[in-house]
Amino acid sequence: MLESELAEITEGSTRLLVPKDSLSEEVPPKEPAFFNPRARVSRDFSIIAYSAFVKNFKGPKIFLDSLAGIGARSVRVANEIPSIEKSIANDVNPQALEIGKKIAQLNNVTNCEFSENEACRFLSLHSTRDGRGAIVDVDPFGSPSRYLDCAMRATFHGGLLSVTATDMTVLHGIFPEACQRKYYGTPVRTIYGNEIALRLILGCMNMVAGRLDIMLVPLFVQHSMHYYKAYTKVLVKTNTKNCMGYILHCHGCGNRKVVQDVERTCNICNSKAELAGPLWIDSMYDKDFIDSMISEEKNLKVDKSCSTFLEKCKEESGMPPAYFALDELGQRKHSAPPSLGGIIEKLQKSGFRATRTSMNPSGVKTDAKIDEILALVP
Ligand SMILES: [Zn+2]
Repeated sequence: MLESELAEITEGSTRLLVPKDSLSEEVPPKEPAFFNPRARVSRDFSIIAYSAFVKNFKGPKIFLDSLAGIGARSVRVANEIPSIEKSIANDVNPQALEIGKKIAQLNNVTNCEFSENEACRFLSLHSTRDGRGAIVDVDPFGSPSRYLDCAMRATFHGGLLSVTATDMTVLHGIFPEACQRKYYGTPVRTIYGNEIALRLILGCMNMVAGRLDIMLVPLFVQHSMHYYKAYTKVLVKTNTKNCMGYILHCHGCGNRKVVQDVERTCNICNSKAELAGPLWIDSMYDKDFIDSMISEEKNLKVDKSCSTFLEKCKEESGMPPAYFALDELGQRKHSAPPSLGGIIEKLQKSGFRATRTSMNPSGVKTDAKIDEILALVP
């Protein structure tokens, strides 16, 4: 790899050397090494989440980056989170690792190691008492499902597992059979499809964890046009609470309802409804964890959008699944969409809970039903 093929950019407080073509091409090339500049904000959120997490983690503070590419995330973790003892960047591509080593040198980072292995093999090698990660990341092309078992086994009891999915078409219901195969659940194409996608990922993770007698506690979820990412705490114990179920969606009246058993009739208009799931129906956010992310964010060099996003996560933690969108409310009333602040205030004045959502800038989370909401739209 020639120096002239690399360009220097800065993310957070870390200088990165990246393949030049990855900065100019629509889809970043995999050769000589893959780097996605659009994932900068995703890495920013990782830095915030990991910083907040290691503060309260007792045990060796090791970060395992199983699909590291050029190691942008691993070197940033080593460089930007002082309490991290060791960061290990693993990839099958030796050229990517060579770039990673240069990046570590450039930042005078000495606690970042490099490993050339297939991801599951790497994770298995670390599934030992002394080898597990306090934080384990899985950031594949496409679906993370094939790595979940190994990743959970390689995470310390009480550690954090973060998982990315980029197979958007599968999770959005374009290929429902593929989604069932990879995530054990069926999506429904709705305006809140991104929330269904996140809940399918968490549901799949929860089913894998159950098999391994592991309990997962979702801490934080984040997404963009191009990826979903879930941050969960891994506990080596049996989860006795049933957090799985379905979201019933009625295309007729717009009703959504969380159910634990299969139900196919809308309880408002009696139409035949669609069912998304099985998926995760419990909380996707840990409020205390979001609070600690909000306070960490202030001390870190991250994108401006992060703090607004986290404030919304804080508001919506504890709210029921399946948000409503303003456009949808307008369409159903054949009128202009209501304003976000306006409808939230009206719902709250009528005794409902209502908040913004990080999942959609014009989305509302509420415990009111569709007919109750529409009654408040002029
Ligand atoms: Zn209905």
